[in-house]
Amino acid sequence: MIAANNPSLRSWISVPEESDFPIQNLPFGVFTTSGSTARVGTRIGDTVIDLSILAASGQLEVAGFTAEDFSQEFLNPMMKKGKEATRRLRQALSDLFSTENQAAATNESIQKALFAVNDVNMCMPVQIGDYTDFYSSKEHATNVGIMFRDPANALLPNWLWIPVGYHGRSSSVIISGQDIHRPKGQIKPDDNEPPIFAASRQVDFELEMGFITYDGKSLGDSISTTEAEDFIFGMCLFNDWSARDIQKWEYVPLGPFLAKNFASSISCWIVTLDALQPFAVESPEQDPAVLSYLAFEGKKSYDIQLEVGLTPENATEKIISNSNFKYMYWNMSQQLAHHTVNGCNVRCGDLMGSGTISGSTPDSFGSMLELAWKGTKPLAMNDGTERRFIQDGDTVTMRGFCQNAEVRIGFGEVKAKILPAK
Ligand code: CA
Repeated sequence: MIAANNPSLRSWISVPEESDFPIQNLPFGVFTTSGSTARVGTRIGDTVIDLSILAASGQLEVAGFTAEDFSQEFLNPMMKKGKEATRRLRQALSDLFSTENQAAATNESIQKALFAVNDVNMCMPVQIGDYTDFYSSKEHATNVGIMFRDPANALLPNWLWIPVGYHGRSSSVIISGQDIHRPKGQIKPDDNEPPIFAASRQVDFELEMGFITYDGKSLGDSISTTEAEDFIFGMCLFNDWSARDIQKWEYVPLGPFLAKNFASSISCWIVTLDALQPFAVESPEQDPAVLSYLAFEGKKSYDIQLEVGLTPENATEKIISNSNFKYMYWNMSQQLAHHTVNGCNVRCGDLMGSGTISGSTPDSFGSMLELAWKGTKPLAMNDGTERRFIQDGDTVTMRGFCQNAEVRIGFGEVKAKILPAK
């Protein structure tokens, strides 16, 4: 077991009950305080900890880090040091903030590194080089296939053989809390008429999770399923915003383009794969048996409970979906092995989206398209209105956490509001 995951550990920093951020989490993010430049931090309870201040007073030397590693706009320089280094760092933080370290609790320079979460401004944590989006939930792919193509052949023939994916766009990946204008484009509301140029009428969310990579191997080399987790830094919540009417008209033959690249939102804190280890679970059984380069051993999926809330303007939030990351047919190790099997190189700070995470029951679907079944089953909001897709002024909030009898490791939330088209 990773020592920092020991469920009996407690911190001298107070942690509210039901917090996503006990001392066993220790996620990484980037923040500013008023008048300061960006720096790397971690979080325990409702306290954000400035790693540049800790390192400046020598507290992180033991892990091989200096203040310069953390006086940065992004986590990339820290991640560049690789998995062993960030694992040592998380252990050093665990040692520093554990109740067993009362000297640290009264150390003045450590006190200076602590900020109330309400006094900090969270920033985009990672400088994302490339963004790849997979399509790895069998239930989601089946639902979309039924609605858009042919119910009898909902899954395309390649789907059970390949972790299907496409290259997305990193420039429009944004942080939780940044609002989005409704996209415009070509839509074709009437099958018998030519397309029109208009604001999308079918803005949707996609409940996904993302993973962030360390530097991979050189161009030409591949990462095996056995090695894959050594190249994954951590995970975040991910809302891959989509415009279904633009998508429907444009996606054949090369896949989604403007329907997907107007915005994708990520949560502020990256939770390390190390912190998620106690929640590793078996993946769903795969039939037919996968090709050998996609075969894997052990528990490569994670039991992460997910929910989506929809809050109309001036109304209260309604929870419209409860799903779980463990439903994914293809796991992250398979995705990374497939991504690199042709020699494609991944780099430090790449983002891989899971694809929409739908469960088998209608209340666990991961998009409005599925929840309201292409507009035929509108969802009732708390203010008496109905939703088929996302309306102007609506806020979508996704949350995710792992929980067992001993510990809860969470991701906080990713949220954004849809503003009227510009
Ligand atoms: Ca997606």
